Amino acid sequence: MVDEQLIPRGIMDKRILDAIGKVPRHIFIEEAFWDRAYGDHALPIGERQSISQPYMVALMTEALELTGTERVLEIGTGSGYQTAILAELAAKVYSIERIKVLAHRARMILDGLNYLNIVIKVFDGTYGWPDEAPFDAIIVTAGAPAIPQAYIEQLKEGGRIIIPVGDRSSQVLKKGVKMGGGIVFTDLTSCIFVPLIGAFAWKKEEDSDRRNNN
Ligand code: SAM
Repeated sequence: MVDEQLIPRGIMDKRILDAIGKVPRHIFIEEAFWDRAYGDHALPIGERQSISQPYMVALMTEALELTGTERVLEIGTGSGYQTAILAELAAKVYSIERIKVLAHRARMILDGLNYLNIVIKVFDGTYGWPDEAPFDAIIVTAGAPAIPQAYIEQLKEGGRIIIPVGDRSSQVLKKGVKMGGGIVFTDLTSCIFVPLIGAFAWKKEEDSDRRNNN
């Protein structure tokens, strides 16, 4: 995964490559998919959701510019795989998942891997996590129609946010840096994520939301 998918596409940060080399991706998915666990693609994790493509996990993590001291907010725990990568690279990860069964499964897997710096909450992540704000970094692993105001308010000055923004079927991965109270955004790449569902995003899932998106 590291040598064939990440380095050739320009992921250079050794800490990220080491973290991805260390965390066993197959543990986060059903045994039926283990033969494809390290492939260059997203995979289904049930509940019409997915574990993201390894390259997308690496790209989003790299853009957060983590040094090891940060408190990170993750929206969309999913399988917990991205959460584990963040926990390898930051001080503490606050992760929100709206689907209870996924949050519980991720918690069990992450406990089994002995991660002590992860808190997971079942909630609508479009509110952010006001009680624990502000955060040094925010990563949103589902596609939003627009950037929820809570993320702007809950990001520290100088903090980084990564979020896919667009319509239900395709988005642009945006990186924002908070400066002077506002956020300056740059576009990283086009992408396809499952929708961010909540009070300040898409209102419900639709039949057209495909299973194998990020
Ligand atoms: N990064 C995850 C991984 O590696 O497994 C993949 C996350 S998956 C692409 C997106 C997740 O966002 C889904 O599990 C979905 O249920 C969750 N989600 C969507 N809207 C949400 C919301 N408002 N709050 C919290 N989680 C949400």
